Amino acid sequence: MTQSEQLAAIRQALKAYRKGGPIDPVLKDAGLAPDARDISHDDAVQWLLKARAEADKAHIVRMFLEGVENNRAELRAALSALASATHFPDHPFTVTNQYNCQVCSAFDPLEVDFVKLNRIRYQCGSVLSGDIAQIAYFLQQAAATEASPPATLPLLSSIFQMIRELPDNARPKDLLKSLRKLKGVKMTDEEARSFIELLGHCGILQTPEHPGLLQRFTNQGLSPSSSRSSDWSYPVDFWRGEYGMNSKAMTYWFGEYPELLAQ
Ligand SMILES: [Zn+2]
Repeated sequence: MTQSEQLAAIRQALKAYRKGGPIDPVLKDAGLAPDARDISHDDAVQWLLKARAEADKAHIVRMFLEGVENNRAELRAALSALASATHFPDHPFTVTNQYNCQVCSAFDPLEVDFVKLNRIRYQCGSVLSGDIAQIAYFLQQAAATEASPPATLPLLSSIFQMIRELPDNARPKDLLKSLRKLKGVKMTDEEARSFIELLGHCGILQTPEHPGLLQRFTNQGLSPSSSRSSDWSYPVDFWRGEYGMNSKAMTYWFGEYPELLAQ
């Protein structure tokens, strides 16, 4: 099986997976299906903090670049996880009147289904809802993955150029439309949405009042929405074309790649 055939088989098996159902051997062979387990909230927090301490930012950025240029969501996901972990507070399970943690929104215990985590990694390529198991696992997987960074970055350069040229009143849904139409981008609707949300987590698409997770920890379960009907995650939900791309965040992540920064 070639690498692309194996990737297609993995994607297909992840899509077909149903909780409690059979697990395709292709996932087991690829190490993507350890047994599901329950872990306590406090152990999950320590798992995340350990993965953050061991994370290699330059490696995760290289993986992200490869993931964009080669249209591979699973290589992009750790950048969202690293941004999400940046200011994540060490804390015990904290409840008053609710069932989930007041600080991070996780439950105790937490059900960790690795196949489900991998489905999100391969099909979305970003952390959803600030889930702490996703953050920890995506970072852990990045550390175990070799990066083959591309020699040139035409696709990411053209994505950033497209964002710079959007009108001031452009909303995330307009960006989504433009992104999916862009030549060379092969993202499903779900992947493209997740990609835009990842840029929010990383502080690239943010607003002065609503910074990304790179700047400030935000409990995604309690974060504000721009409107009742919005289904975009925080903070990209508040982003409009007028805010452009945050240059500090761009330099933080891509300072080694001047071709990606505004000329
Ligand atoms: Zn918590």
